[in-house]
Amino acid sequence: METSHAFSGLTCLDCGTTIPADEVSGRCPDCGGVLDPQYEYDAIELDRATLDDRTDRSQWRYRELLPFTRESAVSLDEGGTPLVECPRLADELDVGRVLVKDDGRLPTGSTADRGQSLALTAAAGLDVTDVALPSPGASAQSAAAYAARAGLDSHAFVPSRTPFTNKAMINVHGGDMNVIGGRFDDAVDAFEDAIAEEPWHSLSAFDTPYRHEGRKTALFEIVEQLDWTLPDAIVAPTGSGLSIAGLYKGARELRELGLVDDLPALYAAQAAGCAPIVEAWGDGESESSPVELPDTICGELEIPDPNGSAHVLDALAATDGGAVSVEDPEILESAVTAASSEGLEVGTSTGAALGGTWRLAERDTLAEDDCVVVLNTGAGSKDDDVLRSHLMGQGI
Ligand SMILES: [Zn+2]
Repeated sequence: METSHAFSGLTCLDCGTTIPADEVSGRCPDCGGVLDPQYEYDAIELDRATLDDRTDRSQWRYRELLPFTRESAVSLDEGGTPLVECPRLADELDVGRVLVKDDGRLPTGSTADRGQSLALTAAAGLDVTDVALPSPGASAQSAAAYAARAGLDSHAFVPSRTPFTNKAMINVHGGDMNVIGGRFDDAVDAFEDAIAEEPWHSLSAFDTPYRHEGRKTALFEIVEQLDWTLPDAIVAPTGSGLSIAGLYKGARELRELGLVDDLPALYAAQAAGCAPIVEAWGDGESESSPVELPDTICGELEIPDPNGSAHVLDALAATDGGAVSVEDPEILESAVTAASSEGLEVGTSTGAALGGTWRLAERDTLAEDDCVVVLNTGAGSKDDDVLRSHLMGQGI
């Protein structure tokens, strides 16, 4: 890999130490904290006119703000997803505008692609042959795709409930798949046992500095698509918290470069059956506590102990946002409503975000002239059986 000219190293979000990017590949060697790519913003010249002239529609159009050069990137041209106007949803919610940032249209149908592109670029530049991660499904499919592109072997640890599409495509990409009986935590345990014995490079959420980093490009795109205005709120489905962490960083960077002058309010939406960040937010805690008995239809959001929760909670507070949980029936109904009223195919995670947006509107947290962006993190077709079953429960 070849680093970009303003990329200056990795800073620990917990203890503040800065380390050259070529010296570490995971967490902070001093304290085990989360590492975050840093840039010399004074050395970056990026303005609206420069971007207007750029024909690259992928996330690499923001290459000055990414750690690696476009030429060395392990990329499937991820990024450049549409921001879809949803007037019927806006009417129903009684807000000014609702727009869905449709990351279901990324190469593997998941917003995970943004970060896996960076994470596999980094891995390909290290002396590793194998990458591995625990995953509810989508991020493992994405990792398998990008590992294939990088010429690395990949190992996924997924719970048995992982959707068929994810499992099938991990195999199709040539990845090694370990289906673990039980829930996500059991997959994490199996992953940790395996990586303790093997010289694998971890792609687990927040273990690599680059998965949360890649998510920030969604924020860059949203702001550029809104003609350099900020939405009043962005609602993101939140399992591990990578999206919130990335959106927050992206907004701070645009402000640092003078391209915007404020931050959008960020809201984390979780399933009520597994809502550690919502609970910590409500209790005013600085990090979440593990959920003892997680239980939600939404497998991607069933992350009972998100290891980056402190940074997610920081982002919610710093942007004057919040956290909201949604019960399973409302999650399913919201995803089906997006498909039936707007034609949009969204997964159950985004059902939680749409249901959460509904709650925020009911509570008057959102105002009637607000512009609200909902992040669609995954293609609806990956959850087709769950969504169809919801209709069957209604006799349809
Ligand atoms: Zn540290």
